[in-house]
Amino acid sequence: MVDILFGKMGAYSVGAVGYVVLVTASSAFVQAFAPPDVFSARSQSSDVLTASSRSLIHLHSTKPQPIDPSGWPEKFPAKEHCSKCGLCETTFVSHVTDACAFLGDGMARNIDGLEKAVHGRRRNTQDLVWSDISRTDDGIAEEGRFGVMTRPMQLAKGKNVEGAQWTGVVTGIAVSMLESGMVDAVVCIASNDDDGIDNNWSNPQPILARTVDDVLRGRGVKPALAPSLAVLDELKDSTDIKKLLFCGVGCAVQAFRAIQHELQLDEVYVLGTNCADNSPTPEAAKKFLSRSFKDKLDGKRVRGYEFMQDFKVHVKYDDGTDQSQPSYERLPYFSLQGDVAEFAIAKSCLACFDYTNALADVVVGYMGAPLDSSMDASFQTITVRNKKGERMLKCAVESDRLQLGNLASGSGSHEKFASTTVSSDNIVQKMAG
Ligand code: SF4
Ligand code: SF4
Repeated sequence: MVDILFGKMGAYSVGAVGYVVLVTASSAFVQAFAPPDVFSARSQSSDVLTASSRSLIHLHSTKPQPIDPSGWPEKFPAKEHCSKCGLCETTFVSHVTDACAFLGDGMARNIDGLEKAVHGRRRNTQDLVWSDISRTDDGIAEEGRFGVMTRPMQLAKGKNVEGAQWTGVVTGIAVSMLESGMVDAVVCIASNDDDGIDNNWSNPQPILARTVDDVLRGRGVKPALAPSLAVLDELKDSTDIKKLLFCGVGCAVQAFRAIQHELQLDEVYVLGTNCADNSPTPEAAKKFLSRSFKDKLDGKRVRGYEFMQDFKVHVKYDDGTDQSQPSYERLPYFSLQGDVAEFAIAKSCLACFDYTNALADVVVGYMGAPLDSSMDASFQTITVRNKKGERMLKCAVESDRLQLGNLASGSGSHEKFASTTVSSDNIVQKMAG
């Protein structure tokens, strides 16, 4: 089943409510079956928002005024489709009509317009396999769906990173770049301590990390929309930062790429995660767990959760007896209640066409990697898109923070698999009405 899923589904997640199969009717399904030039089909649903967003920007054209995050989503230009990327919480809000992944041509404009500028070339759209017509491919992820690559997608584990959600691939790369002086600072998402020590796993707080300890605060996956770009003003005011690593999901990376030239940095690297279907808020993520797992999690300190390759939701928690060995509760996707998507998946994510994070230099994910006993023992996948990405990988391997494995590959007909899932899954049926 895992092989079939990887067989060109093209939708997988690090950190989000990575509901790859169950939301296929609304987004992943379309993404899996559509060539890249249909990115605009979804984005056009936001056209109606463009006029209001333009007038809002016009009002503030002399001095851009950040939008108060407490007004989300009504006060934000993309309204309910806003993925809370953080741009509008800074003075860079003046760029929103050109940068936002959910306004105007959105992701089509960003990816079609920036892919060549970022990677030096567009993806090879001829590299696209329909598995029920041809099985001449080698089971390796193709560019038509997965984006520009300098090498085939590969398996990887983080090394010497304690306390990560998986093995620490993202953290390991970021730490190695900071330790080696390749960058002066890292934009990443930490857990917000204001939420109390037992609950902070789900509450994302963007930070401009200047030390390894700061970067380590970013360990663990936050399963809710995270305003990564909210630190842009702090970054612009930090004249000592000339080389930056930005970490983020696809929609945040798109907005960052659109404004990165405004930051006057000497070097910019982008480390992305594959991402599918985040919860709109930390509260929604917690509600998802309490509704789905009921009393199974009572009294347990949750560390995180993922929708895994075995078609179960894995919740990682400390049982209080041995902090170095987390425990897991597991629940099959197909036993989840039908209305889960209504409150647990953000509207932006249901309209997203960038699960593969097309504009990052390196992307880390997990669907398509073989599942070991648990997530913290399993390989993840790594996609390298350009020369900067190759340098990032080299830095992490030479710093002994990253171990590379075999190529990630799959087999089977993803079309048949996706069709069967869409027609039989009760959450998809509920979403489709
Ligand atoms: Fe602004 Fe980002 Fe929301 Fe778009 S997604 S409206 S750029 S905060
Ligand atoms: Fe952003 Fe898409 Fe991830 Fe949602 S699924 S957080 S819209 S990249």
